[in-house]
Amino acid sequence: MDHTTSTPTTGTGEALRLEGVGKVYGTDENRVVALDDVSLSLPSGTFTAVMGPSGSGKSTLLHCAAGLDQPTTGRVHVAGALMSGTDETALTKFRRERIGFVFQQFNLLPMLTVLQNATLPQRLAGRKPDEAHAAAVLARVGLGDRLGHLPSELSGGQQQRVAIARALVAEPNIVFGDEPTGALDTRSARDVLTLLAESVRAYGQTVVMVTHDPVAASYADSVLFLADGRIVGELVAPTAESVAERMAHLGDMVARRRAATAV
Ligand code: ADP
Ligand code: MG
Repeated sequence: MDHTTSTPTTGTGEALRLEGVGKVYGTDENRVVALDDVSLSLPSGTFTAVMGPSGSGKSTLLHCAAGLDQPTTGRVHVAGALMSGTDETALTKFRRERIGFVFQQFNLLPMLTVLQNATLPQRLAGRKPDEAHAAAVLARVGLGDRLGHLPSELSGGQQQRVAIARALVAEPNIVFGDEPTGALDTRSARDVLTLLAESVRAYGQTVVMVTHDPVAASYADSVLFLADGRIVGELVAPTAESVAERMAHLGDMVARRRAATAV
């Protein structure tokens, strides 16, 4: 049975659940608690932004939720299935079938064409690439006339749209993005954010995106705020102004807490 085509990626239900997820790096005096008992539940077909000061655990949260890193404690469920981290082969299969990831630096292979990049995950999974489907998704992201181009022949915004198409082609339960617009100019960033929001509204995709930009966060349905490895707030129906205001408060709060615990 081909899981990726038989499992609905959209619709009702819970796309992501974290139960008491913790992540500790290092030991003894190098010990860093990057995530501290994080629990959350995200319904399918929602667009969530994750914000917080530098070092608050945003990337660690995304990597643990996406199976790119293993939590020290707690459990991650994607679309109702427990991600169990004991077996690397099983984890890789789980990731390929359920999760898409978009990186700040696009991570396209420079010697492969746009179409080859978009179908690479299928080929890595040992399946026959569905080029017609990939071409249709690339057309949807506005690159229908660039299928044979190399990444170096595209702008940054276009390269990120290829990376998003690559994630969407596999029809994952969730697409994660770690600062997906961080390397883009304002206009390309807007195109990429519109595309992500549209994949949620029109296709029921679930998207979780880390950003430090209040304007980017305002494209999401809700914003989760992290500080010192914990979720410290949520903002539903965010605007750039309300997000910026909350971030300013968060900065003050973290500074006060660090001052209080400094020796
Ligand atoms: P953010 O993405 O919010 O900037 P990170 O998730 O990258 O934060 O990091 C959270 C904390 O964990 C930071 O204190 C960081 O220094 C630490 N950290 C992240 N990755 C590692 C690692 N591989 N080894 C040790 N410490 C790490
Ligand atoms: Mg980060």
